[in-house]
Amino acid sequence: MSHTKYIFVTGGVTSSLGKGIISASLAKLLQARGFAVTIQKFDPYINIDPGTLNPYEHGECYVTNDGAETDLDLGHYERFLNVPTSQANNITTGRIYQAVIEKERRGDYLGETVQVIPHITDEIKYRIKLLANESELDFLITEIGGTVGDIESLPYIEAIRQMKWELGETNCVVVHLTLVPYLAAAGELKTKPTQHSVKNMLELGVQPDILVCRTEKPLNEGLKNKIALFCNVSPRSVIESIDTDTIYNVPLLMQQELLDLVVLEKTKMPVNTEPDLVRWEKFLYRLKNPMSEVNIGLVGKYVELKDSYKSILESFVHAGSDLQCKVNIKMIHSESITNENVADILKGINGIVVAPGFGERGIEGKITAIRYVRENNIPFLGICLGMQCAVVEFARNVLGFTDAHSTEMNPRTKYPVIDIMEAQKKISCKGGTMRLGAYPCRINPGTKVSAIYDSLDITERHRHRYEFNNKYLMDFEKAGVIAAGMNPKDNLVEIIENINHPWFVGVQFHPEYRSTVHSPHPLFKAFVNAARENMLKAAENEKE
Ligand code: GLN
Repeated sequence: MSHTKYIFVTGGVTSSLGKGIISASLAKLLQARGFAVTIQKFDPYINIDPGTLNPYEHGECYVTNDGAETDLDLGHYERFLNVPTSQANNITTGRIYQAVIEKERRGDYLGETVQVIPHITDEIKYRIKLLANESELDFLITEIGGTVGDIESLPYIEAIRQMKWELGETNCVVVHLTLVPYLAAAGELKTKPTQHSVKNMLELGVQPDILVCRTEKPLNEGLKNKIALFCNVSPRSVIESIDTDTIYNVPLLMQQELLDLVVLEKTKMPVNTEPDLVRWEKFLYRLKNPMSEVNIGLVGKYVELKDSYKSILESFVHAGSDLQCKVNIKMIHSESITNENVADILKGINGIVVAPGFGERGIEGKITAIRYVRENNIPFLGICLGMQCAVVEFARNVLGFTDAHSTEMNPRTKYPVIDIMEAQKKISCKGGTMRLGAYPCRINPGTKVSAIYDSLDITERHRHRYEFNNKYLMDFEKAGVIAAGMNPKDNLVEIIENINHPWFVGVQFHPEYRSTVHSPHPLFKAFVNAARENMLKAAENEKE
C-alpha cells in the first residue's frame, strides 16, 4: 500500500491564475524539507498531447527526456525542482480516452457499458496512483488544467472526490486557487467570485481544504476570516498569493503564508525541519542585484505570446542570475525584419537568439538577422530552426549556393543544405513522430562548445524532423563553419560553430529544456557572457 499523500490543485474564477507556479512552489517547499515529491498535470483537452498545437493556443510545447511533448507547466516543475519529469507527468483527456477505448476493443470490459463514470474516472485515478507508486513519493501534486465549472474538467473533479472518499482526509488535500479581484471604483477587494467558485466545487462533492487567493493587494485578516467562514475552511487555510515581479519569489511568499506547513498539518506529516532554501535565496539575490547588463534580441515568429518561448526566456533568467547580469530581452518579430531595417532593429543589441519553429512564415527575416550578426561580429545562438537558418544563410551568402534552403521550406531547392531525416521520410502521421527527447552528442575537442560544456559527451533534448545535410559538410568546414558536435551513432550534426566569428553557435537540440534554477545551462551562460563582452567592446568603440 502506497504511503503517498495526494495533493490536488484546482483553479476557479478564471484561467491564468498561475496554478503551475503555485504547484511548483509548494513542491519546492516540500522538497526543501526533504520530502520526495513530483508534480503531474492533467490537461482536459482531447489532443493526445500538445505537440500538434499551435504555440498561440497554449504557449510552448515542452519536451521531456523520454521524448514526451508536454504542457509548458512541466518546464516550471523541472526548473523549480531540478528533477526530470516524464510522459507520466502530463496526461490529457485524449490520452485517457484513448487508453479506455483501446481496453474496450481488447475486450477488457466485455459485457459492460463503457462510461465516463466509472471507466474514465477509474483511468484517471489509475494514472495518478501509478505515478505515485512507481516513484515512491511522499507527495504527489496533481494539477488539474482548466477552470472548475468547465464541462471538460468534470471527470477530474469526480475522480478527486472519489479519491478523497477512498483514501480519507489526511491522504488527499485539495488546494483550490481563486481570484480576489480589486475593484478600483469601490476601492475594495471582492470575495464573491471565490465564494462562487467554492460553491461550484461543493456542488461537485468536493470541499477544498486550502484556498490560495490570487490578488493584487494584500488580504487583511478580516477578509481572510470572511473567506474562511463562507468557504468552510480554517482562516489559516486561506493563503494570500499576491502579484510579484518574478515567479521565483513565489516559493518564499508561499512559505511566509505557511502553505507548506498547513499541508503538512492536514496530511499529518512530520514537521521536523525548516525548508532549506539557501541556494534558492542566493539565486534570487543575484537575480535582483545585477552588476552588469546586456541586451539580447529574441527573433521568432510567435513573439506576440511570450509563453511561446517560455523555456528560452527562463533560461536567460537562470544564466543572468548566475552571472549577476541583467538580461534585457527584446522580442523581435521575424516577419518585420528586412535588409533595409535590420541595422536599425538590431541597434544596441549585444547578441541574438534565433528561435525554434516550423514552416515558412518569417524565415527570410531570420536569415537576414543572422547575416547581419555574422557580418558584424555580434554573438549568435541558433536553436533548432535557428541553427538551420544559420546554415541556409551561410550557404547562400558565403558559399554562393544562391537558392539554398531547407527542404521544409523549399522542397525543390538546388542546394538542400537542411534536409528531412532519413527516418522521417516514411512518416506521414504528425502526432509524436518527430525525433523527440534526449539523444547523446559527441563534442569535438578544441571547439568553443567543448570548453563551454567542459565535457565531450553530452545529452540534450530534441524536437525536429530536418537535419544538416552532410553532403555539404566539407564545403562548410572549408569556409569556417564546423560541425562541433555530432550524434555518435548516425553522424547527425548537433552543433555548428563559425570559427571566424567571436561567438556563433547553432544547436539542433533545445538547451532551454534543461536549464533550471539550480543548474543554469552552460550554453546560455556562455552566450550571455559573450553578449556582455560585445557590450563592453561597443562602449569602448563609442569612446574612441
Ligand atoms: N522545423 C524544423 C524541423 O522540424 C525545426 C524544428 C524546431 O525548431 N523545433 O527540423
